Amino acid sequence: MRRALATVLVVALAGCSAGGSSDGAATSSDGPAGAPTTTEALTFDDRPDDVADEVFADLGDPRIDVRSYDVEVRADPGDPRIEGEVTMALAPTGDDALRDFTLDLKGPEITDASVDGEPAQVQAGDAEVVITPAQPLLGGDEVEATFTYEGEPSQAPFPVFGITVGWQPDDEGGWFTMSEPAGTSSWVPCNDHPSDKATWRVTLDVPEDTEGISNGRLEGDGPEVADGRARWTWSEDEPMASYLVLAAVGDYDLVTADADGVRTTYAFPTSLDERGRRGFDRTPEIVAWFAEQFGPYPADDSGAIVVPTDLGVALEVQTRPLFGLDDTGAAVGALAHELAHQWFGDAVGPERWDDLWLNEGFATYADWMWGEHDGGDTVDEEAARAHERQGDTSIPVHDPQAAATFDFLIYEGGALVLHALRHEVGDEAFFEILRRWVAEHRGSTATTADFVALASDVAGRDLQELFTAWLDRAPLPDLPR
Ligand SMILES: [Zn+2]
Repeated sequence: MRRALATVLVVALAGCSAGGSSDGAATSSDGPAGAPTTTEALTFDDRPDDVADEVFADLGDPRIDVRSYDVEVRADPGDPRIEGEVTMALAPTGDDALRDFTLDLKGPEITDASVDGEPAQVQAGDAEVVITPAQPLLGGDEVEATFTYEGEPSQAPFPVFGITVGWQPDDEGGWFTMSEPAGTSSWVPCNDHPSDKATWRVTLDVPEDTEGISNGRLEGDGPEVADGRARWTWSEDEPMASYLVLAAVGDYDLVTADADGVRTTYAFPTSLDERGRRGFDRTPEIVAWFAEQFGPYPADDSGAIVVPTDLGVALEVQTRPLFGLDDTGAAVGALAHELAHQWFGDAVGPERWDDLWLNEGFATYADWMWGEHDGGDTVDEEAARAHERQGDTSIPVHDPQAAATFDFLIYEGGALVLHALRHEVGDEAFFEILRRWVAEHRGSTATTADFVALASDVAGRDLQELFTAWLDRAPLPDLPR
């Protein structure tokens, strides 16, 4: 995720009035950098049916591993109700028999549930459902669970960016999803925590004159059309965290190009003119340059979606980053950042949300690198400015509360960690670390400890002290020269 450029500038001008920004929604809840004004009280419980994550508690169920989702949702522009069915292959993560498990679900109600063809009991709570199969799940055995559901997805405000998370209306009567950090469970029951990746196949059943957009590749040559409906089926075969799943329904043009074995598919609102689309033309160029730096592009599909709404932020959505109308034009501010997330955040995901710097610090640093390569400010200049803004922070970069608010410290402080590492080990070792990081954890998740161990391994010496100084202490050390 990244604030749209106008908002970044407002944050950079912390303390100044927000003059020049026309997007009050995106900026009103941002205080000066490092001091978010709105913070939900963090509650951290250790219920065994929730992932032990002190950043966003109550999500996911660590006792199950969902391996695939095949979801079909019927949706209509202007109608807030959806009808859906999802079939998931899942297995218990432990050896003991599992009597029940939970799925996250906010809004719709499950009307029918089965596990391996036998009816299962469903007990609905506020934001999750308890599923009790007829037979306990046995350790290691994969089962197929199917749920039919219907209702109105419930949206949740995400105070930090002034955005709404979940399935929501766009400005033209269609629907789209803002999934990070836990919006996918507003429209499909799922294990909504990044620690559980799965393959996803998404079918959107929409009126015949409407498009349905999701991640990965469109199956067939187009939608299946029958009885006035169009069924758009997309599949993403690379494992994907639930917070990276996309659904959008509306009037879109699909624009496709193939380059270097990667298919690039853009979904633009039909109302978006050529000028608004132009900036996205640089996507294949940026992807190719990042591939030289970080290793091969980690998916078969690339592209972007623009939704017909001003958002104030862009989202890293796997294979198809999501932008609002306010982030289009000749130069798309967050394009390099969101494309870098395809390596850092998507191919390699965080095991827990407090490792968010592994996403945002890396994407920010890659954005700086692209800027320098493209003739803009150098990485050194960017780092100096970031250090000016973040250096005297009182919050460590690797801090659960900062992660919970997506504090800009995570972005710039996280990038400064990499800058310090690069100074410490030199360019050759630094890029070997980044390439091995992706190669060794692609399709999976990783932790800060994994990164410290890898960096130390490549450098040939223990670098824990460097990471402790930059990640776990505040204020930040002086910038290396
Ligand atoms: Zn980001």
